[in-house]
Amino acid sequence: MSREAVIFNVQRFSTEDGPGIRTTCFLKGCPLSCVWCHNPEGISPRPQTMWYDVRCIGCRSCVDVCPVGALTAGDKGIKINRSTCSACGKCADACPAAAIEIIGKSWTPEALTDEVLRDSAFYETSGGGVTISGGEPLAQHEFVMDFISRCKGAGLHVALDTSGYAAPAVFDPAADAADMVLLDLKTMNPAAHLELTGVPLEPVLRSARSLGETRKRVWIRTPVIPGATDSDENITAVARFIADNIPGCDRYDILPFSNICASKYERLGMEFRFKETPLVPMERMEELKADAERAGAPNVVIQGLTTRKPQ
Ligand code: SF4
Ligand code: SF4
Repeated sequence: MSREAVIFNVQRFSTEDGPGIRTTCFLKGCPLSCVWCHNPEGISPRPQTMWYDVRCIGCRSCVDVCPVGALTAGDKGIKINRSTCSACGKCADACPAAAIEIIGKSWTPEALTDEVLRDSAFYETSGGGVTISGGEPLAQHEFVMDFISRCKGAGLHVALDTSGYAAPAVFDPAADAADMVLLDLKTMNPAAHLELTGVPLEPVLRSARSLGETRKRVWIRTPVIPGATDSDENITAVARFIADNIPGCDRYDILPFSNICASKYERLGMEFRFKETPLVPMERMEELKADAERAGAPNVVIQGLTTRKPQ
């Protein structure tokens, strides 16, 4: 059994990843490559080096200390050769301005359990708990099973936030062990799903149906991405699927697109197709919410940043 997982964030006092106040643990690595991904640091399973241009004072200490010569200083600041960088962290340690950060750190299940237990009092008073997210947490499923078991043993409520893209032998036991599942249904169009996420839709639908069969407590979530998942037809189709297949679903979140992640793409040296895409107007989100309600989805919630027309 894998004793450690690479985790890129342990976010305390989260109120959006399940009921109550929660600690959300973001595991690195994802088999999907959604073109709008708002956590690009969660895609690669390995630790990565991030450079913050606004903090850099141009001292070149990082260049001098790198043991593999992965850094160069030029007109546009520090350039990282990601094919040679091993994310050893020597440059981050040498930087006097905290302008370099290694994203992703190995945790044992024991250490992570101790970490999340620090906020037990908040979980108890708010009806919250721990959410295991990513990336795709089930890409490190052995760790996840161990961690869920430790959290449950400590009396914590556990939510599993997953794309649903996992083999039945991996998905079903993890869903069964958790108290609830947060599942993304992005588009009901198989061709669009393959094009936008890089993986087929059917395994995701199988996971969703299996949650329905066990009447697991579920929240379904759809990111509303302009030109990709934001049609009335798509939201209606997701809502119908929920109504027909997932009786344990007690909330459907529609999540308006946000480009707040654009700077993370730059710091990781990655392209972001939606860099200039504006937020979705609240009026449009309310139309989609009405579509979902008409199609039978329960408790439809707009969750995230939108714009409103000036009054
Ligand atoms: S993390 Fe290590 S290998 Fe990568 S650039 Fe920094 S010093 Fe070089
Ligand atoms: S050590 Fe830090 S501040 Fe100095 S050049 Fe490198 S990134 Fe910039």
